[in-house]
Amino acid sequence: MKCIICGSQDIQEKNVDEEIRFGNDIVMVNIDTLICGSCGERYYSRSTLKLLEEFEDKLKHDNLKLDVIGSVLRASNDLSKMATA
Ligand SMILES: [Zn+2]
Repeated sequence: MKCIICGSQDIQEKNVDEEIRFGNDIVMVNIDTLICGSCGERYYSRSTLKLLEEFEDKLKHDNLKLDVIGSVLRASNDLSKMATA
């Protein structure tokens, strides 16, 4: 298998945190997936995608136990308006 982004053949299965948006929050979930060792592009198998979809579904409908590990913050200023002329 070759990376479609950078062409590297260094693609291996790794355990990573996948970030899933949930309203204003981001939920991290641990999965095994194929990752390009050169550019970091992630490749998901059909079964991994299904697992992630099922997890998103559970997030919405079940009362999953989630641990708070950080905050999602937003800058008050619009970056494009902060640019100096
Ligand atoms: Zn790559």
